[in-house]
Amino acid sequence: MATPVVETEVVRVRVAGKVNLALRSGPRRPDGYHTLSTVFQAVSLFDEVEASWADPGEVSVTVLGDQAHLVPVGEENIAVKAARLLAATAGADRPLGASLVIRKAIPVTGGMAGGSADAAGALLACAVLWDLDISPDELRDLGAQLGADVPFCLAGGTALGTGRGDQLAPVLSRGSYHWVLAFSDGELSTPAVFGKFDELGLGNDHPEVPAEILNALVSGDAPALGRCLTNDLQAAALELRPQLGQLLDAGNELGAVGAIVSGSGPTIAFLAANESAAVDLSVKLSSEGMCRSVKRVTGPVPGARLVV
Ligand code: ATP
Repeated sequence: MATPVVETEVVRVRVAGKVNLALRSGPRRPDGYHTLSTVFQAVSLFDEVEASWADPGEVSVTVLGDQAHLVPVGEENIAVKAARLLAATAGADRPLGASLVIRKAIPVTGGMAGGSADAAGALLACAVLWDLDISPDELRDLGAQLGADVPFCLAGGTALGTGRGDQLAPVLSRGSYHWVLAFSDGELSTPAVFGKFDELGLGNDHPEVPAEILNALVSGDAPALGRCLTNDLQAAALELRPQLGQLLDAGNELGAVGAIVSGSGPTIAFLAANESAAVDLSVKLSSEGMCRSVKRVTGPVPGARLVV
């Protein structure tokens, strides 16, 4: 009797969260989207997505970590959607299944593209597990179907995003930047923040990131970058969560060279002049007790990568 083939392979992918160094947004379009011009930077806060074989047609997910209870584990999990889309598109000639495990470190609904990172991780992990013949460009196109931030999560580094944020061009960035992230309790959903943004009429008809930010990145000058961090969604996020204004002020007073709400918030990213200033700032911010937790990270870092 033939021995059944048991597939024991496990593929692990590490994928970074992002901060937006600049985010300019147009008003709500008739199709519901907003035209964006944004500079993303991937930072060293990683989710891990693990994929192993499951019965044909079965895709399941287990989520681990402090905030796992906030993440859906059924078909609505974006990593499950990613695996199913990949199987339907690139693996149509044979039924494929995967069992996914996500170890979450990126805050859930925190404005750091945590779900998009998991989608990017699942695409890469399943493509390798299933040994699919798929190019990076094809993976990126599938990513864009899942969410506007997914292509950046695959690529990482520092990039300019236009359109919905999914049309990427690399940005020259010298050196490494030291960030202190302040995580807050409670979610601030991206649709709610854009809703408030529309209500306040903050859309710009020709959203463009300021040239100063690109110049600062080329020069590798942290204080110069800190001065031109900008986020059109910040006023809307502060309207919904006024306490974030006090946290921003506190970080500035404690020595940050720049401070910004990350994407739609509520995570706040403080830029420090160097590593020792980041250590100092993170200790002081923690002792203020104004946020759930504080974490030091650096950027830019690569996007979705296999862990070997
Ligand atoms: P962004 O910065 O891209 O606007 P975010 O980081 O603020 O997004 P996410 O953590 O991506 O927010 O979560 C957005 C929503 O997606 C939440 O309601 C969450 O329950 C849901 N979700 C689905 N799948 C996942 C996943 N794998 N990880 C996190 N959230 C997920």
